[in-house]
Amino acid sequence: MKAIIDLFKRLFLLELIKGLRVTGKYLFERKITVQYPDEKTPQSFRFRGRHAQRRYPNGEERCIACKLCEATCPALAITIEVEQRADGSRRTSRYDIDLTKCIFCGYCEESCPVDAIVETRVFEYCGEESGDLLMTKQDLLASGDKLESQLAADRLLDSQYR
Ligand code: SF4
Ligand code: SF4
Repeated sequence: MKAIIDLFKRLFLLELIKGLRVTGKYLFERKITVQYPDEKTPQSFRFRGRHAQRRYPNGEERCIACKLCEATCPALAITIEVEQRADGSRRTSRYDIDLTKCIFCGYCEESCPVDAIVETRVFEYCGEESGDLLMTKQDLLASGDKLESQLAADRLLDSQYR
C-alpha cells in the first residue's frame, strides 16, 4: 500500500506542489530580510563596537591612567604607559588597543572609574594589515571627539538601568 501511495505522490509531483505552496505563501508576506548596507537593524545604546576615549567638556582627557582597564582586559589587548604631568596629575603617554585581540567584552568600559574608555556603536571598519587595527591614544581621542554627543546620550540612558 505504501509503495502505491509513494508512486501516486511521485506521479502527481505532490511534494513539489507542497513546497511551491510554502514558497508562494511567503512570496507576498512582509519581508524580514534586512537589505544591508542600505537598511540597518536598530542598535542598543549598550552596543559594543570600536572603542573611543572621552574628554570632559573643558577638553581635558578623562583618563587618569589608573590602568584598571589594562588589568581587567582578558585578551591583553590594551597597552598603557604612564607619565606624570608638571601639576602632579597622572596621564597616559601611550594608550593602545589592539582590535585584532579584542573580544569586545566591555570589561574595560565597565572597569573605568571616569567613563574614559568606552565602546561606540561603530562596527563598520576594516584593515588590510594587522597594524591598521591598532588604535592609538590619538585615534581613540579623535573618535571620542567625533562621537561625544552620541556617547553622552548612551551613557545617560545606561545609567537609568543601573
Ligand atoms: S572590550 Fe574586552 S577584550 Fe576588548 S579591550 Fe576591552 S576589556 Fe579588552
Ligand atoms: S581608561 Fe579608565 S580604567 Fe583605563 S587607565 Fe584610563 S581611567 Fe583607568
